[in-house]
Amino acid sequence: MGAWCALLEAVASAAWIVDAGTRRVVGANAAAADLLGQPVERLAGAAAETLIGTPEDLAYWDEVGAGHPDPLNSDTVLVDATGRLVPVTRRVARLSMDGQPLHLLVTVDDRTEACRQQQASEALTAELQATLESTADGILVTDLAGRIRGFNRRFAQIWGMPEALLLQHQDEAVFDWMRRSVAEPDDYQRRLGLIQDTTLMQASERLVLHSGRVLERVTQPQSIQGRPCGRVWAFRDQTDLVAAGRRIEALSTTDALTGLHNRRQATEHLARSIVEAQRDGIALALLILDLDRFKQINDSLGHETGDQVLLDAADRLRSCLRQGDSVARIGGDQFALLVHDADHRGAEAAARRVLAAISRPCSVDGLQFTLTCSVGVALFPSDGVDADQLMRRAETAMQRAKIGGRACFRFHQARHDDDLRRRMQLDHAMRQALASQRFRLQYQPQIDLRTGVVVGCEALIRWRDPELGDVSPGEFIPVAEDSGFIIAIGDWVMAQAVRQAAAWSEGGLAMPVSVNVSALQFQQADFIERVAGVLREHGLPGRLLELELTESILVQDADEALDRLSQLARLGVQMAIDDFGTGYSSLSYLKRFPIQRLKIDRSFVSGIPNDDSDAGIVRAIIQMSRALGMRVIAEGVETEPQRAFLLESGCDQFQGFLYAPALDALSFEERVRGQPPTGRRRLTLVSST
Ligand code: C2E
Ligand code: MG
Ligand code: MG
Repeated sequence: MGAWCALLEAVASAAWIVDAGTRRVVGANAAAADLLGQPVERLAGAAAETLIGTPEDLAYWDEVGAGHPDPLNSDTVLVDATGRLVPVTRRVARLSMDGQPLHLLVTVDDRTEACRQQQASEALTAELQATLESTADGILVTDLAGRIRGFNRRFAQIWGMPEALLLQHQDEAVFDWMRRSVAEPDDYQRRLGLIQDTTLMQASERLVLHSGRVLERVTQPQSIQGRPCGRVWAFRDQTDLVAAGRRIEALSTTDALTGLHNRRQATEHLARSIVEAQRDGIALALLILDLDRFKQINDSLGHETGDQVLLDAADRLRSCLRQGDSVARIGGDQFALLVHDADHRGAEAAARRVLAAISRPCSVDGLQFTLTCSVGVALFPSDGVDADQLMRRAETAMQRAKIGGRACFRFHQARHDDDLRRRMQLDHAMRQALASQRFRLQYQPQIDLRTGVVVGCEALIRWRDPELGDVSPGEFIPVAEDSGFIIAIGDWVMAQAVRQAAAWSEGGLAMPVSVNVSALQFQQADFIERVAGVLREHGLPGRLLELELTESILVQDADEALDRLSQLARLGVQMAIDDFGTGYSSLSYLKRFPIQRLKIDRSFVSGIPNDDSDAGIVRAIIQMSRALGMRVIAEGVETEPQRAFLLESGCDQFQGFLYAPALDALSFEERVRGQPPTGRRRLTLVSST
């Protein structure tokens, strides 16, 4: 036994020695005593199968008993001193020493810690796998040599790959599948090589597959305790995302209705074209066109028809393009055409082509009509050197084409830009002026040519601005008409004039007052009610108010105008046509309207008596008014010969500097009463608020 003792003490594991013949323990070491919870002395003599009693061990000792003492090495369990099952690795080795019967050395290593670690690592792996499976990304984990160490199902799905390739560890087949799936295998392979060669590289890129799928591949090195051990590859299917991105891009750069570029894209395209034109030393022409009266089509025929018309217009414009030119829809009914290598003449030719193409009769839903457009042209480099500037200039030129009567084109004019600034300034100042009560009315006498008696007056607005000085209505009224502010101004004028006329009337001076009415004002739905309301408020009989309308009001919508004029006539209000002769009135409808007076425009009066043509026109207007049963008044009479000519030609009345300019109410009243009033109390003036 002594010989075995030294051996037992030298073994680090728990160990005991069994006599193969008797299958009894002949010696054990301290570690064994510790593990089994029995003193060494008690262990000696114990039957071997009582120390570890698993079926395997029992069977083994039976075998030994039968004379087959083979070595044994396996994991098993034993019950320790506390009754706990301890997982162990148990080895049995043969010990033969000369002259000694065969002995067996049993060593037992506690596997508790190893088992715990293994369980923990299994749990971790399971958890990791669950995590992998739960992500929407396809995951592949490779080691430093590129061998596959892990994957999830999604990976196979994303690549459309049979899962068997992965499960059977056919790494080459997996990589080959990926290579064959991508649209550009050479690039793919090159990039892959680079990533694999660069252990610490992180990379993210897009792969396009033959199937059209788009995958995002993100890869990062993986390390254990700071040492690189491989790489994780994540693949995300971005097919839908990319498609949505494309769609958004398309929507944000194209016009949904016509499929043409939209304003943003047009501006960017223009900017690029400018850079190229600069480089190549060529000129560009930008045409901006706006369909005339498109709103009417929309309003009267409905938006669907409006859309049809826009589509049709887009087609027509496309047909005007030469190679390299482009067209975009930059607003509701606005389009932009970019013409390459076009100087002034080329631009003009393009503008004419556009006008002609748009104005060819069209038919939508069986309805035939003709559309026109107004075109503004700006040239690069002469009119502007950047896209915004060119756009702005072409747009203001287009506005001028509108003002100039539509259905025509205009080139950018430097001066016009200043005009525009001035108009904006005026519009702003005007609004302040109304709020701060800086507007005044003056009254210009109207005189009976035969008797020389003042028979009425025209109310004319006056504005002295603290910064701009005196601004003539000839300048600011058109601006107010453009911006719509004329409605507010018109209301103020109407109220003020009616108030003054009422005051005069109460003071015994029944003086008709003429008020200029702008088209926009006249077309307000509640215009009649407003007039009636003001008259009622101040108690002025309608016959003491005259409205000066322009011919354009009557031409635009004759039926509507007739309806309104008739209602006004029922209020007793008088109507005059201002600036007569400059518009398009035709006898046939003048006759239908309840109009009492025509005002011969100043431009004709200025030429009489010497200018034959003016003289002829003035005579004709007078005769016409006679025939229509209307009175006629000449405005802008400055000289005695003019007055004499008018009297002789049968004109009824005149107004002009010859008698008096527009006067403030006080001066007017003094003048009309023929003598200065004796005291302020008798004055029937109203304050201007
Ligand atoms: P209008 O209605 O034709 O007014 C006549 C214009 O001729 C007035 O110019 C008047 O001062 C001017 N005038 C009068 N006698 C003579 C003359 O002998 N010689 C010359 N050369 N001119 C004469 P004003 O006041 O500058 O008004 C210009 C235009 O502004 C008016 O033309 C009218 O269309 C518009 N306007 C003036 N006041 C108002 C208003 O209250 N409302 C609206 N909507 N328009 C107004
Ligand atoms: Mg007038
Ligand atoms: Mg006039």
